[in-house]
Amino acid sequence: MSSSTTNTPPNNNPHHSPQTLLSTLLSLTESHIIPLTAAGVKSGSKLFGAAILSRSDLTPLTVATNNERESPLLHGEINCIQQFFATIPPSARPPTKECIFFATHEPCSLCLSGITWAGFNEFYYLFTYQDSRDLFGIPYDIDILEQVFRVPGKGDDEQSLRGRPLYNKNNKFFRSKSLADLIEELEGGEEEKEKWRGEIGRMKGLYNGLSETYQEGKSKGAESSSVWK
Ligand SMILES: [Zn+2]
Repeated sequence: MSSSTTNTPPNNNPHHSPQTLLSTLLSLTESHIIPLTAAGVKSGSKLFGAAILSRSDLTPLTVATNNERESPLLHGEINCIQQFFATIPPSARPPTKECIFFATHEPCSLCLSGITWAGFNEFYYLFTYQDSRDLFGIPYDIDILEQVFRVPGKGDDEQSLRGRPLYNKNNKFFRSKSLADLIEELEGGEEEKEKWRGEIGRMKGLYNGLSETYQEGKSKGAESSSVWK
């Protein structure tokens, strides 16, 4: 692609329906990411996880979770990208633009950059920044984006700053959506949407348990190299 001024990343083919994406990403979370996360939170790592899937058939290629016990930079997404490159030989590894990236929690500024630098152009997430702050007691995604990246323009005040999105969800590098956004795109009517909202609610329940383990470990001084716990 030459120097493009468009805000639209390359067309992502094949196109998967919202229903297929919801079903694939939620079952992957339950079957692969949550068991890994359960082991991580017990040893002081945060409850964030990620997966990289082949876009062609949605096969999971790499699944990983946060490993801040080892390094404060090993967020779930970064750990997943590292493993994708470290464990799949180049001959068997699809180009990142032919993959779909999934993060259990909306990626922080570090991970947004990691996803971008690695060339993934489509990602989805289950929990939003607000969920990370309000449900899981981890406010730093919002804090860092506001404090480090949000430069007030002339005439900006507290209110106008608060109304501004924290990052571009659709830009020339990637397109991103929450699973809740996918539910809104479903064509099956309100009943179908409710079914998937229920599934997300059930997932929140599973994560509540993981969060309690993490917060309990944190209060007992679990070993972690993370500064912002
Ligand atoms: Zn991150």
